[in-house]
Amino acid sequence: ISIKSLVKRYPIGNDFFTALKDINLTLNTGEFTGLVGPSGSGKTTLLNVIGGLDSASEGTVNVLHHSLNNTSHNERALLRRKHMGFIFQSYNLLPVYTVYENVELPLILNKVSPLEREKKVNQAIEWVGLSDKRDSRPNTLSGGQCQRTAIARAIVHQPDLVLADEPTANLDAENSHHIMKILTKLNKEISTSF
Ligand code: ADP
Ligand code: MG
Repeated sequence: ISIKSLVKRYPIGNDFFTALKDINLTLNTGEFTGLVGPSGSGKTTLLNVIGGLDSASEGTVNVLHHSLNNTSHNERALLRRKHMGFIFQSYNLLPVYTVYENVELPLILNKVSPLEREKKVNQAIEWVGLSDKRDSRPNTLSGGQCQRTAIARAIVHQPDLVLADEPTANLDAENSHHIMKILTKLNKEISTSF
């Protein structure tokens, strides 16, 4: 990730609100970085720009060898689908799908064959320690288990970049600690364990 002189303004009526001003950031392959700041300081805005969900008002944004300034909506969507994983504060699991089906979704979108899908989904679920819950629906899981499902979904297609927006905000201290341990382990081991 290479960001230079990033400015992000949101239009409000006839005016603008500047959410990010002159941001410079370089993150290299293999890094595990946390961004800390009070509510409203622009963390989500920055993650959305890095993930190509939103665009910069000024400055240059390079992510995974792509200049996000010059890519189309479709190119950014493809980059996300193939090379990025997202983890959100509120899990964003699909309620009618089981753990297995939620985790399988990115592979279906990437047109991975059924046989390969089964292998990867089982590996990802095992990796977050949820094999015994693979046929459960989200409303029967604890918050920590939901977030572990979301982590499995974020990593099942072996992305190059995982973006997590306050992934422990809805969890108690013990579960937060567990999720952070999984994310740290993910950063250290995932490239060799899949
Ligand atoms: P954080 O994630 O650190 O809490 P955000 O990135 O969500 O902060 O928001 C940064 C600032 O930008 C806040 O003041 C917020 O109100 C404002 N903001 C966020 N999204 C929009 C939007 N779509 N339109 C206008 N202002 C926005
Ligand atoms: Mg936020």
